[in-house]
Order: sequence, then C-alpha cells, then structure tokens
Amino acid sequence: MKRFFFGPVLSRRLGFSLGIDILPDKKTCTFDCLYCEIGKTRRVTSPKTRSPFLIENKKNFELQLRNILSQDILIDTLTFAGYSGEATLNSELNTFLNITKSVRSDLHKENIPISILTNSSTINFPEIRKILMNFDNIVAKLDVGNQASFMKVNRPHFLVPQISDIINGLKQLREELDKNRLVIQTLLFSENNDRKNIDSLIEAYNIINPNKIQLYSIARPPAYAVKKIDGLQLEQIKKNMQDVLKTNIKIETY
Ligand code: SF4
Repeated sequence: MKRFFFGPVLSRRLGFSLGIDILPDKKTCTFDCLYCEIGKTRRVTSPKTRSPFLIENKKNFELQLRNILSQDILIDTLTFAGYSGEATLNSELNTFLNITKSVRSDLHKENIPISILTNSSTINFPEIRKILMNFDNIVAKLDVGNQASFMKVNRPHFLVPQISDIINGLKQLREELDKNRLVIQTLLFSENNDRKNIDSLIEAYNIINPNKIQLYSIARPPAYAVKKIDGLQLEQIKKNMQDVLKTNIKIETY
C-alpha cells in the first residue's frame, strides 16, 4: 500500500512537519538538481505532464491521515513535499489538498497550516497558481537568477520555461496572493555561490518581492559530486543580500 505520510520530522525550516507525498515511488521531477537528496532524475519529466497519480488510493490517503491526526502528536505543519519529485505534476493535487483540509477540519486541527514545497517549474501555468493559492503557505524554489546557472544547477527538462519567465511567474503569484504566504527557498552550494549568481538572485528577489527568503545548504548526500557551503559563508551572503534588498523582505538562514 502506498505510504503517503512521512514523519513528523523536525525540519530546519518548517518545525515538526508531517510530509505528504502524492507521487509514485519512482522519482517524478522536472529537474535533475546537482544537489538532490533523493538521487539523480533518471528521466526528467515535462512540466506539461499532468497525471492523476494515486487518485484510486484516495480512501487510503484519508484513512492514513485521519489515523495520524487523531493521535496526540506534535505537528507544526502538514507539508506536500518533494519526497519523490514535484507535487504539482499530480493533476489531482487539489483533490488531495481538499481531503487534507476536510480531515483537518473534522478533527478540529485547523490551527495546523498546510504548506507546499514546489520547484517553481510549473508556476507559469495559471491553473497551477490557482491551486497553490489554496495552500496556507507556499514555499517555492529559486536557486539561481540567470539562465546559465539554471542549466548548470537545476538541469531542467527542455520544456521548462526560462528562469526569467519563472521569476515573473513567481512575481505574479505574489501579486495574486491575498495574504503574506510566499516563501522563496534558495539552496546555496559550491556551484551557485559565485558573485554573478548572487547578484542575479538579488535582482530576482527584488522583482518577486516574497514575504521571506530561506537560505540553506546541503544537509544530506547529494546526487552528484558537489559540496555544501558552511554557516559562515551563508551568513556573509545573507548580509550582502540584506544590504541591497527591499527592506520588507526578511532573510533567514538554516
Ligand atoms: S526539484 Fe527537488 S526533487 Fe527535483 S531534482 Fe531538484 S531537489 Fe530533487
């Protein structure tokens, strides 16, 4: 039987997070990031792919969630996460979200927010932004601000839009959101901590104007031979960014 839920695990960025995986167990992603913690993407998926993954198991999904939320376990957030890829590729994402909301409400746990981690590759589709807006928090990946770094670091499917279009899609999402719910997460490591990328990221952040930026580095073995950067370097980059960013954008490091 498909295991939909993981944890809760103590996440550096989300607190005690109950991970929700609505993709097949085989990695399904539009990227092949050098630092991916779940291994190489053997076959990169098109961002136009929309499959009703696992919808025939929705009763199991509901039962598993009801069982977990009925227990007296500390959970800070319910997180649709990339345990095996990019959740927005599941055409039934909104159905799984609605089941989650309904169980949360039945069990009077509305205080637990529902978050989604996305790699932003599908952000230019209006129907995807519409679904994302139904989440309490949206945590969107942006590791690079220029196309050369994008190709080197995230290694997208050839149909993934240019990084400049993705940045504009994130800006549009931010403008469409009614509340402060957009977090940009940026993983910095040996291949994207150069001056050119940092400068282009600052430019991108100022365009998107997110509510928060989370900077972090590699914590588990990466798919390819790349290296993490240490906490001191992260703090220095944060300081350099903070000096030139719009003052309302908060940066956190992990
Ligand atoms: S987007 Fe996430 S799941 Fe996909 S390759 Fe990158 S790190 Fe791995």
